[in-house]
Amino acid sequence: MEFATFADRAGTIEAESADLEIVAHVRELLAGAGGDLEVVTRFAQGRVFAAWDSTTLDVGPSACYEAIARAAGTNVDAEDVEDKLASVGEIGAVAASYDFSGQRGLGAFTSAGDDQTGSGGDLSVREVADTLKALAAAEGSGSQDRKVDLLFGLFNRCSSEEARYLARLVLSEMRIGVGEGTVRDAIADAFVVPRDRVERALQVSNDYGNVARIARDDGLEGLDAMALEVGRPVQAMLAQAGTVTDALGEWDEAGVEWKYDGARIQLHYEPADADGPSESGETRVFSRNMEDVTDALPEVVEFAQETLAVPAILDGEVVAVDDDGTPLPFQAVLRRFRRKHDVAKAREDVTVRPVFFDCLHVDGVDLLEEPLTTRHERLRSVLVDWEADTDRIGDDEIEGLSLLWETADPDEIESIDAEALEAGHEGIMLKDPESMYTPGRRGKNWRKRKPDVETLDCVVTGAEWGEGRRATFLGTFELSVRAGDALETVGKVATGITDEKLAELTDLLDPHIVAEEGQEVDLEPAVVFEVGYEEIQTSPTYSSGYALRFPRFVGVRPDKDPGDADTLEQLERLRKQ
Ligand code: AMP
Repeated sequence: MEFATFADRAGTIEAESADLEIVAHVRELLAGAGGDLEVVTRFAQGRVFAAWDSTTLDVGPSACYEAIARAAGTNVDAEDVEDKLASVGEIGAVAASYDFSGQRGLGAFTSAGDDQTGSGGDLSVREVADTLKALAAAEGSGSQDRKVDLLFGLFNRCSSEEARYLARLVLSEMRIGVGEGTVRDAIADAFVVPRDRVERALQVSNDYGNVARIARDDGLEGLDAMALEVGRPVQAMLAQAGTVTDALGEWDEAGVEWKYDGARIQLHYEPADADGPSESGETRVFSRNMEDVTDALPEVVEFAQETLAVPAILDGEVVAVDDDGTPLPFQAVLRRFRRKHDVAKAREDVTVRPVFFDCLHVDGVDLLEEPLTTRHERLRSVLVDWEADTDRIGDDEIEGLSLLWETADPDEIESIDAEALEAGHEGIMLKDPESMYTPGRRGKNWRKRKPDVETLDCVVTGAEWGEGRRATFLGTFELSVRAGDALETVGKVATGITDEKLAELTDLLDPHIVAEEGQEVDLEPAVVFEVGYEEIQTSPTYSSGYALRFPRFVGVRPDKDPGDADTLEQLERLRKQ
């Protein structure tokens, strides 16, 4: 396909606002793309590479301005291009405003009836794609100049409309209104295959161009044969915010997991081929955006090589931990994630470890369509060290495995939440145990427990000393509200925060200890905590007759005295809301 034809169609699509019409135009574009179908499909979305491929052109805006300026003529420089951009606001319009024909020999282009500027007409979509790939591959000294040269070579052959879309493509600003759903529908319509099967093929391959070509050439059978490939990342399944009440209302049972405060990773492991060059197998780690972060996370690679024995794609979180394995705040992971230089040095400062909660593929079998419980079982089986005596090892001791509880009991969920916080994690995730793995979807099947809408200011009337390493810290705090002159208890809150914060709270409360028995202490009313919660329930456990469900420490209210804390009436009012 001529690049001019692509640009012309892109212009038509951009001018259209009705979704159905856009799909129809993209369908036409794909149907007429011939041997360039893969490239055209990607270009329509503003991509040069497949969605799974994190290769970038690595060309900054200034190199692009430079190339445009050079093609525009001797009286234009990069600064002029930039100035124009500041007033026009969009690189496509800037590129389209120049007449590149002046820089070409008269015989270098043929007029295609574009009377505004000369139209190149001889540039094909394939040439643009090949040149941009060469540009992406250029590295080392002088590579930036080489990139500008290659870009100049392209702009130099462009009509104004071609330049508009080339500039946008190069700077990842295509924005003609073609989203993923549009391409899915257009492929289905153009090659007469069901949309849901196109969708599935897109999910497993993450390659729109390839799916379009297979839909056209091999039809439904070809699409259905598409599968995950170890080494090629897929989009991560995402979570929505939601409450325990909603989850239990909709599902027979909820799958409950700890929510780790780290960075999402997708691990791809392929064992060594007996004849292959590597003895330890091939491991790749991808971020949530499918960027290759393998080199930044050697601990994850080592974990995979020590633990896994079969090809696998695992989904999890990488967490920073201290020497005892206690999780550190998210900021610590950021010092390691995506790091390109001095990884060994950074590793000395911050240790990371992976925790996996899902698996998408094991030993030649794709598991996306299996229920969560089955996938979790498979995950467990690949992480178990078969050489150890597994009968005597509880799940807790399976390194790298995130536990999955299945329950319909809100009290059990509450205690899992409290344990998660106690262990230093963010809280819990709720998952439908029956649900499939849907890459890229932010559906209701995975929910992170919703942040609280309301908070209460409660007086801290008691506490418990922690255990083990935290024995010198007060950890769990008894909360009370005012009832006339008295204070009545409404619940306990585990803070699940850093040792530093626990030390601070201990210092704050220690002077107010009035009695101690075992781990439990009574406190004189002095300190007020702001606490979030999910629900207020009647309960015989606490003296107020009510209990805060899923209480959550928000912060200390140094500005409030116990006399300013919330009252039992207020609690009852909130409960009725
Ligand atoms: P958020 O980033 O707030 O949208 O929360 C969703 C993220 O929590 C996921 O993308 C994961 O990175 C992370 N996460 C931590 N623990 C889990 C878990 N057990 N299951 C799923 N996601 C988790």
